[in-house]
Amino acid sequence: MQKIAILYDASQAVLSTFDLDEVLRQILVIARDYFHLQNVAILLLDKDKKELAPRCQIGWDAGHECTRLPLDQGITGAAARQKRPIYAPDVSRDPQYVSSAQSTRSELAIPLMVRDEVVGVLDCQSANIDHFDNEKIDLLTLFSTQASMALQNARLYSLERQRARHMEVINAIARETTAVLDQEQTFQVGHVSVLLRDDDGLLLRASQGRFTASTSSGGRIPVTSGLWGRALALGKTLIENDVRACAEYVGFYQDTQSRMCIPLVSFGQSLGVLMLESERAASFQEGDVESMEAVADICATAIQNAHYVERVKQLAYLDGLTGIFNRRYFEMRVVEEIDRARRFNSGMAVLMIDIDQFKRLNDDFGHLLGDEVLRQVSSMFHGQVRKIDVVCRYGGEEFAILLSQTNPQHALGVAEKLRRLVETWQFPGVPQSVTISAGVATFPDHGTGRDELVKSADAGLYAAKQGGRNRVLLGPTFFKAAAQGQD
Ligand code: GH3
Ligand code: MG
Ligand code: MG
Repeated sequence: MQKIAILYDASQAVLSTFDLDEVLRQILVIARDYFHLQNVAILLLDKDKKELAPRCQIGWDAGHECTRLPLDQGITGAAARQKRPIYAPDVSRDPQYVSSAQSTRSELAIPLMVRDEVVGVLDCQSANIDHFDNEKIDLLTLFSTQASMALQNARLYSLERQRARHMEVINAIARETTAVLDQEQTFQVGHVSVLLRDDDGLLLRASQGRFTASTSSGGRIPVTSGLWGRALALGKTLIENDVRACAEYVGFYQDTQSRMCIPLVSFGQSLGVLMLESERAASFQEGDVESMEAVADICATAIQNAHYVERVKQLAYLDGLTGIFNRRYFEMRVVEEIDRARRFNSGMAVLMIDIDQFKRLNDDFGHLLGDEVLRQVSSMFHGQVRKIDVVCRYGGEEFAILLSQTNPQHALGVAEKLRRLVETWQFPGVPQSVTISAGVATFPDHGTGRDELVKSADAGLYAAKQGGRNRVLLGPTFFKAAAQGQD
């Protein structure tokens, strides 16, 4: 039987986030640290009083606690009213701005939405003028989605608590769905499927139950046919209570007599369909629709949550300009690769690569062209190494590459191949050759720890620059002795 992997993982995440304040605090800490913010707060909408009230805040300037604010005031009020992020790059020039912290120079307020409704605002304040560029705003908007989900989870949770029956069903879907649904005398569900949209249509992503498949669809499902197609098109829950009587019945299982399809919707976006099937006719009643929609809501949130978590993780490790991994990712992976090499006795290499005379290239041809060269060099490197190797932008015009299962000769060979490729590459708009210098250090030859290897590769790079650039050198091995001394 197929595991409901994604749904289970995601539901676990949702189900473990009932401590709302802890989740919100974590979101604020991430926002503050990652975006170097001065003050960050989450304010919740008090509909009756038409006010935004602080629910959780960190880093607030001493003596200037974030206070309740009427909805018609401030950058936060504007974000809540207009249902979109509002940015004041220089608060001293923004007539909407209401001062709360003395050090604040720029402010970004992002509405927290649950479905189409505003429930609060994520308020980000920086001590720098114009601190937020488009990328930061996008990423913070993603973070705000996490906050919204945490709020939604908490809201649904308390709702569910009052209705224990629903909670039981949610747990069922997260784990051994059908077994529990069976005990629930209401539905007599024999099989549960999660059908998710992707670029090409619908995919059967998870399926649990005792039914026997009548066709092997390979997991891909035509989006226009079947009850799920109609449920998706109409955006509403549909029931077929006697599938034999349906003229154009399409299904997967021999045992199905009746079924219910519930659209999975999160933030107005249709993600797919939750399908419940029973071997009895007339198993589903109209009265069950509402409770099952509440279940589908939580599933949709869980699925969306998993998706966003993945994306935020990815964004945090990617370089914005070139799309390759960033230094943070390098720092993490280099340790893993050294561990792996140690365990399997397989060797690995660190390549530190720096573009020669890049400052001059910028000066002569402009910064934009410099950016383009960085992008092209990144994609050349990426295209030249194996899938298991890792290419990172270490900073500026410097790159770090991790090669696994590699000895010094092979690593030198790879670095040399890259050097020649760049040297002979005709960069559009650059009427001269661009060159690189590289330093190579391998485990265990040049060092056995991260710092030794990076220092050795760096020293190789430095020597290559000193030697006249456009060359590749192995780093010194003296770090090895030092590392062994430490071990
Ligand atoms: P060397 O051969 O010794 O490495 O000389 P260099 O000019 O390449 O080295 P230096 O460190 O003096 O200058 C690096 C330049 O790279 C300076 C900086 O403006 C430029 N740079 C760093 N990041 C970027 C970027 O993202 N885009 C562009 N266009 N230039 C960048
Ligand atoms: Mg350089
Ligand atoms: Mg440099």
